[in-house]
Amino acid sequence: MLGIIAGTGFYEMKMLQNAKVEHIATAYGNAAVYLGEYLGKKLAFLPRHGKGHSIPPHLINYRANIEALNSLGVKRILAINAVGSLKYELPPGSLVLINDFLDFTYGREHTYFTGGEAGVGHVSMCEPYCKAWQKEILSAAKNIGIELFQNGVYVATQGPRFESPAEIKMFAMLGGTVVGMTGVPEVCLAAEKGLCYGAVSVVTNLGSGMTDNIAHGEVVGVMNKANAALEILLEELAANYKAERNCTCGSDSRCV
Ligand SMILES: [Zn+2]
Repeated sequence: MLGIIAGTGFYEMKMLQNAKVEHIATAYGNAAVYLGEYLGKKLAFLPRHGKGHSIPPHLINYRANIEALNSLGVKRILAINAVGSLKYELPPGSLVLINDFLDFTYGREHTYFTGGEAGVGHVSMCEPYCKAWQKEILSAAKNIGIELFQNGVYVATQGPRFESPAEIKMFAMLGGTVVGMTGVPEVCLAAEKGLCYGAVSVVTNLGSGMTDNIAHGEVVGVMNKANAALEILLEELAANYKAERNCTCGSDSRCV
């Protein structure tokens, strides 16, 4: 089953048919997941900030969310994140396929391997975002004429505050493409559970200190367009979703 985790600006999925909310109890806490279908294919939708955007990025129960999807039989996740851009060539409304990350978060429950009965494990991050799944996302986007910027590096900050201009400069120097608050530890926990994880970032603004000349009205327009494109992309992915996986996610030879 395909799982979709969405964040700011994306709280419901109009495409979800026969949707019902399930409150899934996990060893790490509860998660509310919307289950439904699209063209006969089952889908799980998880708005990570909760109903009415009530949970800030640093307090999201990432472990419960990923475990809830895992327990429902989700094998591939498409995560959607609203981000700031570190590049002038990626203005508001750009869609970025993420390929790697830099982690600046702290104090979050970020692993299932907590020792004792839970065990000790060191999951490989050589390919944090499943390459095979990325290819499928990219080809779905191409099929429907949606432009996805590739090889994005997601800089994860702790939030909930935004970044300072000096931080934005530093992140860009370090090789970051976009900056957001929710991509990590989500991607790492999915890897620990052996799930294929892919992420598309939606640029909502340029980073702090990077001035642009885009009027507010214009931004609203491009964001509406970007969200509409994302919805079509999700429909394309859901309609063509196949259960078989041709990757090493979840195996001991991850990335090999
Ligand atoms: Zn995979």
